[in-house]
Amino acid sequence: MHVVRLFAVSLTLSAVALASNGPLPLSASTDTRNAIEKADAAFVDGDRQLALALYKGSLFPTELKLAVDQESLDNDDQYRAVYYALQIWDKELNGDLPIELVDRVEDADVVVRFVDSIPERGPDALGLIQLEKSYRWSKSMHTVKCKGSISIVRSAVGGRLTFSEMRDVVMHEIGHLLGLGDIEKTGVLMGPLERGKPLSRPTVAEVEDVKSLRQTLRSKIRLAETPAP
Ligand SMILES: [Zn+2]
Repeated sequence: MHVVRLFAVSLTLSAVALASNGPLPLSASTDTRNAIEKADAAFVDGDRQLALALYKGSLFPTELKLAVDQESLDNDDQYRAVYYALQIWDKELNGDLPIELVDRVEDADVVVRFVDSIPERGPDALGLIQLEKSYRWSKSMHTVKCKGSISIVRSAVGGRLTFSEMRDVVMHEIGHLLGLGDIEKTGVLMGPLERGKPLSRPTVAEVEDVKSLRQTLRSKIRLAETPAP
């Protein structure tokens, strides 16, 4: 058995270019790209169980359980913001959001916490997602485990985050979980948040990119599950 641990926010994997594959959406994060390239290379090398583990580590075919740390809440809007962020993504993806909201932190794979600051990311940070993916594989089987947290600041320069701002920050972090990277342009979910300018939802292009990424991952999984001739 081999075990590899990866942090989604600070992922380092050697990229292996494969000319034979269709392009991934441009907005796919470097982490996602690297994981898929490594999986493609494993598939070509005949290491199908590793390829499957890596594809599934980006698709989450088994829903991740997400809970909000109730002890981190200091107003009613915070839980609601998380709830609506998940609802909106789920609706945009026609029910294909791989996340189930659960009550207890102990039962969760991903815990959302409201915090005073995110020192790792400096004074301007509004949110952070950290995911640890553990892959195990042998010649005949594979497993993927994913554990992590989403931190959302209670207030930033300009005062406390409003309900809409918190919802947008949670949606942004979920965008990372779904494989999108940060972009520099404002006015879109994966760009920097402008205070007082709520977005309410991902853009059509962002939703299409997530759908296309998930479709690509599903075809790659199907192919890797098909017995070799
Ligand atoms: Zn981001």
